[in-house]
Amino acid sequence: MGSISNTIWMIRPWITDFSAYDHFAQPRGFLSLAEYLRSRGWDVRYVDCLERQSASAKGNHPGGRYTWTEIKKPDVLADIPRRYKRYGISMDTFHNTLDGLPLPGAILITTGMTYWYPGLIQTIHELEKRYPEIPMAAGGIYTTLCPDHAQRLSRIRSFPGHISRTFITWLESVTGISSEDFPGHDCLPPPAWDLVPNTSYAVLNSSVGCRHQCRYCAAANFFPTFISHSFTDLTREINTILDGGTITDIALYDDDFADTDHLNRFLEFLVRNRFPVKWHLPNALSIHSVTPETATLLKKSGFNQPRLSVNYIDRVLSDHGFSSSVLNRFSYASDCLQQAGYDPTQISAYILAGLPHQSLTGLEHAAMQLRDRNINPYFSQFSPIPGTPLGDQRLLDLGYNTSGELLLTNKLLSVYRHPGWTWQEYYNLNAAMRGNREQETSSNPETDPPDRKL
Ligand code: SF4
Repeated sequence: MGSISNTIWMIRPWITDFSAYDHFAQPRGFLSLAEYLRSRGWDVRYVDCLERQSASAKGNHPGGRYTWTEIKKPDVLADIPRRYKRYGISMDTFHNTLDGLPLPGAILITTGMTYWYPGLIQTIHELEKRYPEIPMAAGGIYTTLCPDHAQRLSRIRSFPGHISRTFITWLESVTGISSEDFPGHDCLPPPAWDLVPNTSYAVLNSSVGCRHQCRYCAAANFFPTFISHSFTDLTREINTILDGGTITDIALYDDDFADTDHLNRFLEFLVRNRFPVKWHLPNALSIHSVTPETATLLKKSGFNQPRLSVNYIDRVLSDHGFSSSVLNRFSYASDCLQQAGYDPTQISAYILAGLPHQSLTGLEHAAMQLRDRNINPYFSQFSPIPGTPLGDQRLLDLGYNTSGELLLTNKLLSVYRHPGWTWQEYYNLNAAMRGNREQETSSNPETDPPDRKL
């Protein structure tokens, strides 16, 4: 047991991957927990291993690249012709930062993608070496999706799911502080954005949950029902974000904007309030949610680059590309956006690439069909999530049942080890598709070619 202290270190760990980019990636729930703990008397110290060196923007995007260190490629990924990296601050910076902090009563660590777990292990390892007596706990996406794997990882406590009374009770017991009445996960305060170093953007949910059930998605594991937030709460949260004086952009984390009713009401709220920020939709808009009214409201409320997507893409994309009904809907959405004032160069759409049974011909047809309709296509690589029907199917194909290796959930394997194409064919198609696109697009690590130096 560690010494009783009201100080808590909250740590966002390193990630390990072939590529990583700060595309509006922030642990919003973790930062809300930080604010809650501060309000209850804990002295919270936030250590962001993914801290970028500056908040500078690239093009219209306020995110940016992380610094990285090349590390040994795991054997199971040995055939992937790219360098494997630990993204984030250097080991020295990490330890120097910890040296400057008061010793904590507990260390809390958030987690992200399942295939980033080696970065988490290294973070835990470094902490355990120096602070073996201090209780540690982890929560977040990885611990929720793979609780058994997380439990086996190390001696630290793992708390899958939302922040719960059980977790708060554990924290009280190891730190000796009482939090009084825990209001429940849904009532946590707005995130403590002041703790995040070097960011000019924040993230927000106008709703949580999704009413669709795409066979490759784990959204329901986090929010089984759809709930839209009240405008009173949203106003409070946006004003808290703006009070800090450093945030210029806000990204919406909403999963489900298919309900135009909710979307239009939210956009009208933004138009009415004229918050002085640029808005972004990293999760894209379903083509079925775009109407003339929605498009006008999007434009008026300051969304710069509307991105479109189609739900259930495994069912609507065949070897011939998209069906005519889906294409008609894409055209209609694009027309609405252009009539609202968007230039065709601002309108793009995601195509999820790497699903089981997908063919390169199907991807190529789909990309060309979208281009013919003045929509810029992007391939987004499929990450097989354990527990989802298509994720499990893909993992079986990759031999997951025998090795149980979560590194196989890496999205790059969707294109590098896909039975429908070779990676050279995939990258040739990508290169052809990118064509004359603007510079910002050509630096997207999702579509970068393999590293030359291997
Ligand atoms: S992929 Fe999108 S639309 Fe489909 S279930 Fe997930 S969040 Fe919902």
